[in-house]
Amino acid sequence: MADSIPPAGLPRLAGVLADAAGSRLDVSLRLRAGPEALPVAELRVTGLLSLPCQRCLCAMPWAVDFEVTLTAVPDEAAADGLADPFDSVLLDADGALPLWSMVEDEILAMLPLAPVHGDAGVCVPADDDGAGEAVDQGVAPRVNRPFAGLAALQAEAGRKKQ
Ligand SMILES: [Zn+2]
Repeated sequence: MADSIPPAGLPRLAGVLADAAGSRLDVSLRLRAGPEALPVAELRVTGLLSLPCQRCLCAMPWAVDFEVTLTAVPDEAAADGLADPFDSVLLDADGALPLWSMVEDEILAMLPLAPVHGDAGVCVPADDDGAGEAVDQGVAPRVNRPFAGLAALQAEAGRKKQ
């Protein structure tokens, strides 16, 4: 199966986003029989999250693209019996795969602790003295930046330089 979800629907993840409305996730899930007589979930997650840059505090896009293989277990005891108990996911009380909390757990585990813009041209710290060189517009990523406030902050930074 494949599905998309607005990250705003994942409350723990939504809490760390700069802009939930400007974020998206695509998830595909494949189930197969595992070597230990338990179902194995192969999860692929791609998308783009809007995280707050820890240098300029503006929203910055952070690409998500990972695959994870998790053995679905009915209880903790079954997980303990696995060769690799850390690559397991506990089924719901009704035996269902908790897909969205799986996705949320995996993403939260790999989020950068202090995300900062890789492109210095768009990243102007609040206390920057304006010593930076001119912005090279040619290297801007092709993604949309639907981040409210970013343009206003850049304009304000530009005024400070003059
Ligand atoms: Zn930044």
